[in-house]
Amino acid sequence: MTYRIAVARIQQETNALSRVLTTDADFRRTHFYEGEDLLGRIGPDGQEVEGFLKNAELSGFARALRKYGAGRVELIPLFSAWAISAGPVSTSTFRAYTDRLIDELRAAQPLHALCLAQHGSMNVEDDPDPEGTLLRRLKSEFPDLRIATTLDLHGMLTPAMVENADILCGYRTNPHRDHAKTGFKAGRLLLGLLDGDVRPTTAWRSLPLVLGGGITIDFLPPVFHLFAWMSRKERDPRVLSISLFMVHPFNAHPRLGWAVHVVTNGNDKLANALADELAELAWGVRHKQPPVFVGATEAIDRARSARLRRMVGTVVMSDASDVVGAGASGENTRLIQELLGHGRGLISYVPMRDAVVVEALWSRRVGETVHATVGGKLDPQWNEPLDVHGKILSQTGTEAFGRIVVLDLGYVKLCVTEAAPLVMQPSFYRNLGLSLWDADIAVCKSFFPFLLYFAPYARKNIFVKTRGATDFDALSTLAFQDPVWPLSQVDDWREIDGLRRNA
Ligand SMILES: [Zn+2]
Repeated sequence: MTYRIAVARIQQETNALSRVLTTDADFRRTHFYEGEDLLGRIGPDGQEVEGFLKNAELSGFARALRKYGAGRVELIPLFSAWAISAGPVSTSTFRAYTDRLIDELRAAQPLHALCLAQHGSMNVEDDPDPEGTLLRRLKSEFPDLRIATTLDLHGMLTPAMVENADILCGYRTNPHRDHAKTGFKAGRLLLGLLDGDVRPTTAWRSLPLVLGGGITIDFLPPVFHLFAWMSRKERDPRVLSISLFMVHPFNAHPRLGWAVHVVTNGNDKLANALADELAELAWGVRHKQPPVFVGATEAIDRARSARLRRMVGTVVMSDASDVVGAGASGENTRLIQELLGHGRGLISYVPMRDAVVVEALWSRRVGETVHATVGGKLDPQWNEPLDVHGKILSQTGTEAFGRIVVLDLGYVKLCVTEAAPLVMQPSFYRNLGLSLWDADIAVCKSFFPFLLYFAPYARKNIFVKTRGATDFDALSTLAFQDPVWPLSQVDDWREIDGLRRNA
């Protein structure tokens, strides 16, 4: 028989501390494909996520079905919507996407299964668990539909997700490099389930634990032994999938915390034993807290004293409180203000977002002297406006960042972008005619990826704390239902895990 399997994506990582709502326009600007176009993009020659990833979850999923279900699977492409990280998704946008998904599934009947790529750390204005809500709604509307879902490693696993997904797999790398591999695994397991070859049996645990991102790189201590353990255990043919979810720390779910998820082939006892063992291993790293980042003044002092390193390359500063990839708005001005004063004499390249200023300066001439008030417009609770004056150095239209106006403020070259300045690659500056070899300091708004991309130029990396939506200590402003490490002293994870899973 031929299986009819639908594919779809609704994906966004929410920073609950940001007040910049995510709407339909944000998805459409980042990634929105449907129908035959989507089918082509997840096929062998397609580009699934334009400008970012050739293959992600859905193309991995499609590849598994080609490999194991050749000639007996018909893929039904619905739609794929992915927005970059920012504040919560608006209620109306989420409602429109989920209603559309239900309508399209209804119209595509008969269907055997759905593969749904999700993030797991999305928040909607009025719902901290929209992925769980969606899966529950899908199961109640289509009780016979088999559902496979993929989640980001930073997903927040909830009872509604575990209970309503037949197959659930999370990324196993951080920084993430296995989107397609995760989709492939979900596809292979879904086909096994449809064929009756496997009987997915799940055990999971929810830990009262939240850690900062800087110490959760999959190939480095203190967590690499967790990932090595998972790979080793998955070699056992009785084990179908193991995932570890480390959550996005700025998520509004009241029971936020790490989780482990184990799937075996019909072996409940083994699934539970492995879930307990992995939970215990994960709990064991709780004492490793992320390093405390220095303030802007101290960061500039360190850059200034690294004279030799600046001569043979540049100092790269991560504005760790305004990391766009983790949902901040990218319009924090504190580091700029400090560079203009304390950083005098150091040539610094700095990105920031201000669509209003770009619009106002776009019609002015290059070389003209202008005044502008930059920043603090989208998320004023974290960001303060700053008055600057200088010459327009360049005006450039780009796909990824919208229009960019570079202002020459003396030592500081301020790159004002129309869209979110997700600056993690040196090409951002190169394309604006700013050579990294001429800079003493280059600023980016990234936690990890910049370490890799800037490596050819960076002689020193400094994480700077400027107060914003991606400060780890801002976590304490979120409302937690249970005591959670490290905000509270918790000696044993088991009791809270039991409450969370109703076990
Ligand atoms: Zn992630």
